[in-house]
Amino acid sequence: MEKPPLMKDLTLSASPVLDELRALAAERILVLDGAMGTMIQTLGLTEEDYSANGHIHGPGCRHHTDHPQQGNNDLLVLTKPDAIEDIHYQFAMAGADILETNTFSGTTIAQADYGLEGAIHDLSVAGAQVARRAADRAQASDGKRRFVAGAVGPTNRTASISPDVNDPGFRAVTFDDLRRAYGQQMEGLIEGGADIILIETIFDTLNAKAAIFAAFEVFDKIGQRVPLMISGTITDASGRTLSGQTPTAFWHSVSHARPFTVGLNCALGAEAMRPHIAELAGVADTLTCAYPNAGLPNAFGGYDETPEQTAAQVGGFARDGLVNVVGGCCGTTPDHIRAIAEAVAPFAPRAVPA
Ligand SMILES: [Zn+2]
Repeated sequence: MEKPPLMKDLTLSASPVLDELRALAAERILVLDGAMGTMIQTLGLTEEDYSANGHIHGPGCRHHTDHPQQGNNDLLVLTKPDAIEDIHYQFAMAGADILETNTFSGTTIAQADYGLEGAIHDLSVAGAQVARRAADRAQASDGKRRFVAGAVGPTNRTASISPDVNDPGFRAVTFDDLRRAYGQQMEGLIEGGADIILIETIFDTLNAKAAIFAAFEVFDKIGQRVPLMISGTITDASGRTLSGQTPTAFWHSVSHARPFTVGLNCALGAEAMRPHIAELAGVADTLTCAYPNAGLPNAFGGYDETPEQTAAQVGGFARDGLVNVVGGCCGTTPDHIRAIAEAVAPFAPRAVPA
């Protein structure tokens, strides 16, 4: 009988990148980059920029769609690759060790809104290649190793909650839909040069479990385990994810993946995130990662914390031994990342509980 992928995986060798990451993380707190979306907003791009006047050209083929593309930030890795590479490079030179690919919505499920389900392979490969080029350029300029994390978002659907209040049993997406979509994206990310797979902004643990399952299927196919980073999102003041879990419950739901890091990002600013990352740091027997927004969103959906304010909070996480990797989510710029990197530098990384 064929063994399921999770069991087969036990015999797979880990990517050599895992040893490199672990060795660096034993010496110091590592730094993840900031918000790609915030930086893209400052470019003031038009529909013509996004769609390249309808001539979307990927490494494999041309893609055609009648849908408007403005706001489809993931598409820019094909239509404005130099602009995206420049943002990655700015974050790298600000002190980021790990660059996240611009692929948060790069699944067939999330790209269906834009009619680009057929472009997923090209978006994933190009997304990783663009970040890889920036990482290699930064490394060549200052000699410091940079890593590329293939960013896998939650999609815009939830597998465990009904979007229809009159039909609580209805689901807009299934585990297998998600598993297939995530698998396709992850294969492209690894093919394009991603060192790590980062499953982030998890509001529904079932979506994340489908992503973990997909990752292990891909590892089985390529014959190697790529380091995983898993990051949940606490969406309300009660300290739970949208699917209702506390940080401790969330950890127990994903620990079978034996991730390189587990952590929290987005939703709340650093101050409100603090008790939740502290809880996770107390239970997780792996490295922890925190990358909060630059405060809570203001009335216009923007973020107001200055680099110094965010860095003071994240520096506090480091001082109190809560974190191994830190960075920024919505609203964080290269200046935020520079300030965060400086704030955590004096402190030793968190010791993993035995
Ligand atoms: Zn965010």
